[in-house]
Amino acid sequence: ELLNGEQLRRHMHNTIQELRGNIRVYVRTRPFLPGDKQNDESPVDVSPDGESLTILDRRSGSPIDFKFDKVFPPSAGQELVFEEVSDFVQSALDGYHVCLFSYGQTGSGKTHTMQGCGNGPMRGIIPRAVEKILDQARSLNQHKWNFTVSASFLEIYNEDLKDLLISMKSSKGSSSSEKLSIKRNREGRSYVDGLAQIPIDVNDPLAGMQQLDALMGVAARSRSVASTKMNSQSSRSHSVFMLHLNGFNEESGAIVNGALNLCDLAGSERLDRSGAGADAVRLRETQSINKSLSCLGDVFNALATGASHVPYRNSKLTYLLQDCLSGDGKALMFVNLSPTTASCGESVCSLRFAQRVNQVELGKATKHIEYGGKGKR
Ligand code: ADP
Ligand code: MG
Repeated sequence: ELLNGEQLRRHMHNTIQELRGNIRVYVRTRPFLPGDKQNDESPVDVSPDGESLTILDRRSGSPIDFKFDKVFPPSAGQELVFEEVSDFVQSALDGYHVCLFSYGQTGSGKTHTMQGCGNGPMRGIIPRAVEKILDQARSLNQHKWNFTVSASFLEIYNEDLKDLLISMKSSKGSSSSEKLSIKRNREGRSYVDGLAQIPIDVNDPLAGMQQLDALMGVAARSRSVASTKMNSQSSRSHSVFMLHLNGFNEESGAIVNGALNLCDLAGSERLDRSGAGADAVRLRETQSINKSLSCLGDVFNALATGASHVPYRNSKLTYLLQDCLSGDGKALMFVNLSPTTASCGESVCSLRFAQRVNQVELGKATKHIEYGGKGKR
């Protein structure tokens, strides 16, 4: 049945609306760790329905309820968490531009969620996602498809982009201090000019995972070199792991171009105003972190409320990930929480930020939530 022009327009409009609602928020509270204060009772209480939580606000002394797409209790392990994002991740193979973020204060479990550690049960979403996608791509390749996969890894620090895999680039001539810029191609897609794209072997699972290990090692070394040089920690930059997926169907000629971005955001903690003047480098870092996180919030908010203008260009992060935050994009944000009483204030801020992201789910009746109070977030 053919659609006439008006029907088609309406269909497109509905599709766009649907995509606009394609922002999910998952909350993950980490367990208590040996370094945390002993005999601390967590103010965070995850409800058994797996979709809501209550936090006892230390300042007001009263509980605040939140509802999200999913709320993981501290006991939720890496495997379970991945299971809940696995389909989402794999939609990159259908040509979606998919992005997962981890948001939260330093020490709340962002890197644990995204990267995890080792090659065993503690590995996080990045290695599990790559493994899953390679598996799927391999089986598609046995059915007339020809999928290629490549990876990039970059860091955004003080609104500058840095290629963490530059030393793996075969072509010489680009210096490691070179700053990268975001451009748009003919199809209107964002790309980073000159960013290394390291091919990953789809048809040999062992080789593919070894290539991933190697590039994760290279990225970790570039990050630690940079962090000592700039006297800062990786928690003050955003890192984005990208998987580029290109498929061609030998029978039908169909082409699929998908992307998966796994983004470990800078710590969301607020600036300690008393100490702010002490260090100009720190101050600049904090300002740019705040700027890009608040821009991300603004973009999510504009999408959730159906605003006509979405301010993608206000930060490198949102400009880079524009494809995931519009059109055929899909985004999922993890809000990572620390369970401690001392982190309660930051946890409330993170949850408010997330609530603003999730407004579509909460219904339009919800007023605009100004997260972070008067301070710039
Ligand atoms: P962030 O990246 O947000 O600063 P990390 O991911 O580095 O925080 O986590 C801080 C510490 O807590 C690390 O030692 C990490 O291994 C540990 N951790 C975080 N989340 C969990 C979890 N769900 N289970 C066990 N340990 C965790
Ligand atoms: Mg981290």
